[in-house]
Amino acid sequence: MIWTCIGRKIGKEGCGILPLITLLTLSIAAGCNQSNTNQGTTSQQSPQAQEAASTPSVQAEKTKVVTTFLPMYLFTKAVAGNVADVEILVPPGTEVHEYQATPENVKAIATANVLVKNGLGLEEFLKDTVKNAQNPKLTEIDTSKGIKLLNEISPVEETAKAEKDHDHDHTAGNPHVWLDPVLAKQQVINIRDGLIASDPANKAAYEANAATYIKELDSLNGEFQQTLQKNPNCTFITFHDAFPYLAQRYKLKQVAVVKVPEDQLSPTDVQNAVNAVKKYKVKALFSEPGVDNKLLTSLSQDLKLTLRPLDSLETGETDPQYYFKAMRANLQTLETACK
Ligand SMILES: [Zn+2]
Repeated sequence: MIWTCIGRKIGKEGCGILPLITLLTLSIAAGCNQSNTNQGTTSQQSPQAQEAASTPSVQAEKTKVVTTFLPMYLFTKAVAGNVADVEILVPPGTEVHEYQATPENVKAIATANVLVKNGLGLEEFLKDTVKNAQNPKLTEIDTSKGIKLLNEISPVEETAKAEKDHDHDHTAGNPHVWLDPVLAKQQVINIRDGLIASDPANKAAYEANAATYIKELDSLNGEFQQTLQKNPNCTFITFHDAFPYLAQRYKLKQVAVVKVPEDQLSPTDVQNAVNAVKKYKVKALFSEPGVDNKLLTSLSQDLKLTLRPLDSLETGETDPQYYFKAMRANLQTLETACK
């Protein structure tokens, strides 16, 4: 069976991280949106870096930080500002859950001082890549360190053709912690402390930059609290198991995940899917930005629900402010859908 971008994500997370989800096998061809954009790097020498160069224990060049995928890049870039060079390994537009490392990735890690990852089993490609890079100087920052994991969210609903896709180890829990602004703050703090530990000469810059970003995360959290408390316990179904932390934080309910493989579609499959989803009496059905899918659309029509895009931020723009832009768009979507 060939999985679409969406199907892959769900298949992968659905089987291990959330054993209790609805696996509706729908035959479908979802849009894949493979558009690689810029790999933000900075190259100017800042006063801090020059100062760092004069400190005997610190290397003459700027600290080189490689990050795994978009949210890690956004948070690290926000904290590093211009005092460290920040690169991204998984190009925006590329699927992180099933990512295969390139020789360039190995080279980037081989010459880096710091590697920033989400952790929780998300970046499976790292294990071999880091080993192949053979960089004894490399410091790893696991941004999800200290975060309490979620493993079970949705009620059990097994339907026919549920795919067994157990070739990955998901004992680590659901990895999508960055989609909760409060947990994102913890990730930023972990990045800040990790950067300070490996590049103490620029401590002041890292602290100031992190404080600014954390303040913005705090006000984003306030906006979510205020807006979503008007419609508590809003139930929704998604096609990508990315929102359990967000749901827990703001008292929403992710009740099921629809698995979307690319396969021959039979009318019975569609009917089974529709019937299974109907049981949940959900208020909202979410897909992802840039995905135009006829089956999802017809499913939503059968359920008399509007299909709305909710952004997992696994791909997007490389400006650190993109996090707030995309999360505010998500908030607006949730507010409308949960009314
Ligand atoms: Zn995901």
